[in-house]
Amino acid sequence: MPIGKYRGITLQRELVNVIERYINSHPEMGYKSLADFATDAIREKCEQLKILTPMPEQPVLEHFNISEHGVRILDRTLANRTSRGRIIDVYFRPDNAWCEHCQSTDCRHVEFALNIPKVRKIIIKKGWEISKKIKET
Ligand SMILES: [Zn+2]
Repeated sequence: MPIGKYRGITLQRELVNVIERYINSHPEMGYKSLADFATDAIREKCEQLKILTPMPEQPVLEHFNISEHGVRILDRTLANRTSRGRIIDVYFRPDNAWCEHCQSTDCRHVEFALNIPKVRKIIIKKGWEISKKIKET
């Protein structure tokens, strides 16, 4: 095992003895060792206290302010020390969508924008060429 992956803890002998007796007399519990039992017990406590529960992950791209002119997208991959993300405008034009950040009509922001159901509706309603670019899902 790699050095540093494990750390030992010291427990009261009396407590350890009781647990060991329990483990030995209850093989059906599946504990192979005291460490096995302790890990399980600690994990259960951590779950109860929500210590191990990861923070809910926020989506990398999020949209807001949808209009027929365009959509604003928050890109969390472009976060820096002063902000949690960068706001990017994608503009709709009859034949394409334009990302002001990438200066492109074909970047992940455009793709993301064109996959927002509300945006699809706007574009399809307008009968714009770019509706053909929308990927069917
Ligand atoms: Zn872009």
